Amino acid sequence: MREAIVVGGGAAGTSAAASLAERGIRVLLLERSARLGGRAASFSFERRGEEVDTGEHVLLRCCTEVVALLAQLGVEESVAFQPRLRVPMRSGSRRTVLRSSPLPGPLHLLPGLLGYNLLHVRERWRAVGTAARLLLGGSSQEETFRDWLERRGESRAAIERLWDPISVATLNAHANTARLDLAAKVFRDAFSRPHGADLGFFTRPLSRVFSAIVLYLAARGGAVRLGARVDAILANGGAVRGVRLATGEVLESDAVVAAVPPFDLGRLLPREAVGDAYLAGLGRLRWAPIVNVHLWFDRPVLEDPFTVCVDSRLQAVFDVSRLHNQTGATHLVLSQSAAEEWLSLSPAEIEVALLPELRRAFPEGEGAKRLDALVVKHPRATWVPGPGSERDRLSPLTPIRGLVLAGDATTTGWPSTLEGAVRSGRTAAGLLL
Ligand SMILES: Cc1cc2nc3c(=O)[nH]c(=O)nc-3n(C[C@H](O)[C@H](O)[C@H](O)COP(=O)(O)OP(=O)(O)OC[C@H]3O[C@@H](n4cnc5c(N)ncnc54)[C@H](O)[C@@H]3O)c2cc1C
Repeated sequence: MREAIVVGGGAAGTSAAASLAERGIRVLLLERSARLGGRAASFSFERRGEEVDTGEHVLLRCCTEVVALLAQLGVEESVAFQPRLRVPMRSGSRRTVLRSSPLPGPLHLLPGLLGYNLLHVRERWRAVGTAARLLLGGSSQEETFRDWLERRGESRAAIERLWDPISVATLNAHANTARLDLAAKVFRDAFSRPHGADLGFFTRPLSRVFSAIVLYLAARGGAVRLGARVDAILANGGAVRGVRLATGEVLESDAVVAAVPPFDLGRLLPREAVGDAYLAGLGRLRWAPIVNVHLWFDRPVLEDPFTVCVDSRLQAVFDVSRLHNQTGATHLVLSQSAAEEWLSLSPAEIEVALLPELRRAFPEGEGAKRLDALVVKHPRATWVPGPGSERDRLSPLTPIRGLVLAGDATTTGWPSTLEGAVRSGRTAAGLLL
């Protein structure tokens, strides 16, 4: 194999392409849209002359493969990590900060949990025990995180003000939906050592980050084609032989990475080569929405660059102007995860519901004039990490020789995240090689 085709220019496709190119393979990366990044892309919002992320993305420092990919592409400065985990929180007018401390090992969490004044002291001590238990394990793929928390005697307040926000932020699923093993995995990766959970914020629009792959491939004899929609993956005698674009153009290769989500993959695969049962399996994972409400104000509204809200319909609020070091109007993003309740509402209805909550939670923004708004809905932002979901993930290997899969829905061990996607790309490249 000297050449390979990668279908899909999201994080997984970018990672697969970079890994193959690094090993001397000439890669053609095909992306159907006009921009790179997939679910982590940005687009031009003409009305304000700004490039806006389709979804606000946050990393944890334990997302080591994303960090490595950004470094490989020469854009590591696109993410700014906190020196130490610090999460400003609001419950009504009450403020607190959940933070990590300089103590060694998992002890770094202790002062933060014991000082978490949205819970009763008794609840904080119980949370310390629960955190220790999570760090030790929590392996059930069939039990929900909430059922397990309740079995441990966690109070409703502790679940709603501490554990559920963690579940929603990291898994895009409430604790009563998320599998215990994935909740525990994220918790372990993030908190078992100091700094694993430091938050990383992108400092520039996402497509500009992922577009670094264009030069990276070009320098290694490869190329990126945008607006290149693959219509079919072609196979012959059980082996892949290339792809056909929507324009009818055929591109030949004996090595193809399909880095597209399962709901896009089904229509590309040759039925006779993979079989009906395989195609049916692609439709089993359920998907969960995220809704981002972009608001522009004439002055700053938040004290911090981001804040997590509890006891409110608001979840996480980001000051993108500060995160991107922009001058001019204040651009906030209200990021609503596990957002089923918002999907059927119109942008105006969503704003009417959330704007008063924003004003209540951030009295320091009083008098700030709303200049503009934009609502971006992602009905299929991430797959639902519910009990049994592991069985529905896809193996990177396919029944077709020379065709491997990448994407956050493949069996990465990670939930539906950039880190999972990037890892899947590296795995796919390794399998091809
Ligand atoms: C609003 C939102 C917020 C999120 N927040 C976070 C976060 O804070 N942290 C985090 O880690 N993760 C977050 N995620 C999840 C993260 O974005 C995804 O897990 C990750 O981007 C998935 O990457 P992927 O490459 O597997 O898939 P995708 O990003 O879906 O990439 C697939 C690509 O394939 C292309 N494609 C599909 N079909 C074809 C075809 N026929 N021909 C050519 N190209 C095709 C698509 O256009 C797309 O570019 C968030 C997701 C959303 C939507």
